[in-house]
Amino acid sequence: MEIEKLRILGEASQYDLCNYVSLNQENFTSKNLPGIYHARSQSGCQIPLFKVLMSNHCTNDCNYCINHCHNRFERIEFSAEELISLFLLYYQNHYAEGLFLSSGMPGDADQAMEKMIEVARKLRLEYEYQGYIHLKIIPGASYDMIKRAMSLADRVSVNLESATSSGFEELTSTKDYHNDILRRMKWIGRLKKRHPELTPSGQCTQLIVGANDETDQDILKRTEWLHKHLNINLSYLSTFQPLKDTPLENHSKPATNRTPRLYQAQFLLNSYGFSSDELVMDDDGFLFLNDDPKLLWANLNQDMFPMEVNEASFKELLRVPGIGKISARKIIEARKKGIKFRELDELKKIGVVVSRAEPFILINHSQQTTLKF
Ligand code: SF4
Repeated sequence: MEIEKLRILGEASQYDLCNYVSLNQENFTSKNLPGIYHARSQSGCQIPLFKVLMSNHCTNDCNYCINHCHNRFERIEFSAEELISLFLLYYQNHYAEGLFLSSGMPGDADQAMEKMIEVARKLRLEYEYQGYIHLKIIPGASYDMIKRAMSLADRVSVNLESATSSGFEELTSTKDYHNDILRRMKWIGRLKKRHPELTPSGQCTQLIVGANDETDQDILKRTEWLHKHLNINLSYLSTFQPLKDTPLENHSKPATNRTPRLYQAQFLLNSYGFSSDELVMDDDGFLFLNDDPKLLWANLNQDMFPMEVNEASFKELLRVPGIGKISARKIIEARKKGIKFRELDELKKIGVVVSRAEPFILINHSQQTTLKF
């Protein structure tokens, strides 16, 4: 019976991401072990998480979600003890390395929060569990509940879902974008600033790509805002999937590479010093699906290139296609030690993708080529 609950509530939680999704990587849920979700970090590490909903009761009407309140099916929920014993079984057998707990909202946000907090509290205090816990903050939860969740969890998140309030209104009529979501995210940001010991891994959020009319520009402007104002380095982007028995079941799916392109652009904003106004988009505010956003920007800003690698600053190097943060840092460190780059191969050795960088750089004032005639 509990395994059946786990299958249903584990499946229902899979649309909450805690992954960086690159091209052709979408679903990390294990078919064999219900409740297991392989979270993948930016560095490529896979971490199996026990990821479930506490309950699929919900009074909200999010039109992309199978648990929306107008859907008629038997609702179920875990008791704290049921969930803890299943999680510990997985954890002690090394099937899971952490817990990601979310829930539908059966009426009152704080009641749902209380139940999740109870699981985390018991795990920490009664079972002396020291491992990773991610708690989802239910939209509209009170300040006190959020603070309690933050004192127990390594990470908390509120799903923003949309980049704009008008886009949000296309998805639900029962939640308020500014009050239930953004205001709570700001509280978390403020609490974290005042009490750095809370939630060591901070907060994150998720936006759905392609469920409404929002453009890539809307999404990237919002992720840029989240980075600047709430210190969220990576907003998870969930590709919309039309699910059976939801009001959006006939809505079309976004192009397969839209989400990965948005991630690439988001990295340019949050880690490479680009601003959203610099990104190249079409007249409707969408990235070009077949082009790498950095390469496209460089091709349209030829006056900045070719750039001498022995002279460019760290920030300037980050603008070169094929040079990432790690290789830019290595170039600067080598130069500090008095090393001067003379050959393309020397850059290759420190991780530069020379086939992409080569047209945009000078090495020792000469442009080299990898083309062989
Ligand atoms: S709040 Fe919305 S997304 Fe979350 S379970 Fe309820 S209907 Fe689904």
